[in-house]
Amino acid sequence: MAKDIFVFIDHFQGEALPASWEAIGAARSLAEEKGGDVIALVVGEDVGALADQAIQHGADKALKVEHASLADFRPEPFSSVVGKLAAEADVLLMPTSGRTRELAAMVGVDLDTGVIPDVIEMDVAGDAVMATRPIYAGKLLSKVTVPEARPQILTLRTRAFPKPEPDTGRSGAVEAVDVEIEDPLTEVTGYGETEAGVSLSDAAVIVSGGRGTANNPDLEPPADITDEKEQEVWRAQQGFELIGQLASALGGAVGASRAAVDAGYIPYAYQVGQTGKVVSPDLYIAAGISGAIQHLAGMRTAKTIVAINKDPDAPIFKLARFGVVGDLFEVLPPLVEEINNR
Ligand SMILES: Cc1cc2nc3c(=O)[nH]c(=O)nc-3n(C[C@H](O)[C@H](O)[C@H](O)COP(=O)(O)OP(=O)(O)OC[C@H]3O[C@@H](n4cnc5c(N)ncnc54)[C@H](O)[C@@H]3O)c2cc1C
Repeated sequence: MAKDIFVFIDHFQGEALPASWEAIGAARSLAEEKGGDVIALVVGEDVGALADQAIQHGADKALKVEHASLADFRPEPFSSVVGKLAAEADVLLMPTSGRTRELAAMVGVDLDTGVIPDVIEMDVAGDAVMATRPIYAGKLLSKVTVPEARPQILTLRTRAFPKPEPDTGRSGAVEAVDVEIEDPLTEVTGYGETEAGVSLSDAAVIVSGGRGTANNPDLEPPADITDEKEQEVWRAQQGFELIGQLASALGGAVGASRAAVDAGYIPYAYQVGQTGKVVSPDLYIAAGISGAIQHLAGMRTAKTIVAINKDPDAPIFKLARFGVVGDLFEVLPPLVEEINNR
């Protein structure tokens, strides 16, 4: 038991975050190196299907805790359950998400152990896991370990570890566990959709636009838009229309810089960066984005970065693998056409 690697399956009402399966894959690799079983922790109201999926993705066993009080994520009951189940584990992995930021911290305090958030690489060093995590907005990589306390709790950055393909023929034990749950102190009274139902964190391709999306003086706004600010936003919407076309041609998602969000071109849900989403896609295309350090903090781990910018000295070109010096309004339309033709 003490060698086992537990994985918390993060889900929203029974639908797993793909990063939960990445965490199972990472746990499998760790188990091969250091021994122990991979045990999935599936906590919720009706989560039998998730437990089966965890086995299919590589868990040896799934511990399932089902209770009406666990229908919605709340840190108090979830940390109490996870703390009880994982107390004897050697390692407890979770995908990094808004929920697990709270959960990992609370379980860490309850079990008096160390938590390493937002890990992008793991190695085995003696009896401990040596984790690599970006710090200072991604400018430095720190090596962190939990030398003695157990379990070692790590949250793994989305898309930093490969997602295993499910094997529907794979078998493993699913064990229902009864855990006493105290009445939670908070109540979730409902959910409302945000303006944008975007899931940038899971996207393999992201095309982002910045302040440059509004910079096309040749575009003449409709006559009824007379206010200068509204004309600027209208121009940016034409720019983001092109960004959206490229994203959909590549089967990807749209992102944005904070300048674009602050100027009202696009909602905050799209913002990439230090105070927005941290993403790690296979391909990141930045159009009309200068490459400020706070933007780079959110996308510097993308596998391939392409920059489109009018200014050959824009800092984004230092990080980009491919760069196009040009006006996004001229570069994007033929690019979209060519990709669609292919
Ligand atoms: C505490 C803090 C947190 C922050 N968090 C974030 C964050 O999370 N995310 C983030 O993005 N920023 C963040 N910022 C803001 C950041 O510092 C920059 O101001 C912002 O990223 C700039 O956005 P931008 O590149 O779109 O705009 P700009 O810096 O104005 O760059 C626009 C670029 O577009 C180019 N351009 C103009 N017209 C065209 C055209 N027609 N075709 C092609 N290129 C064109 C220009 O050459 C320029 O390089 C933060 C700042 C602070 C202080």
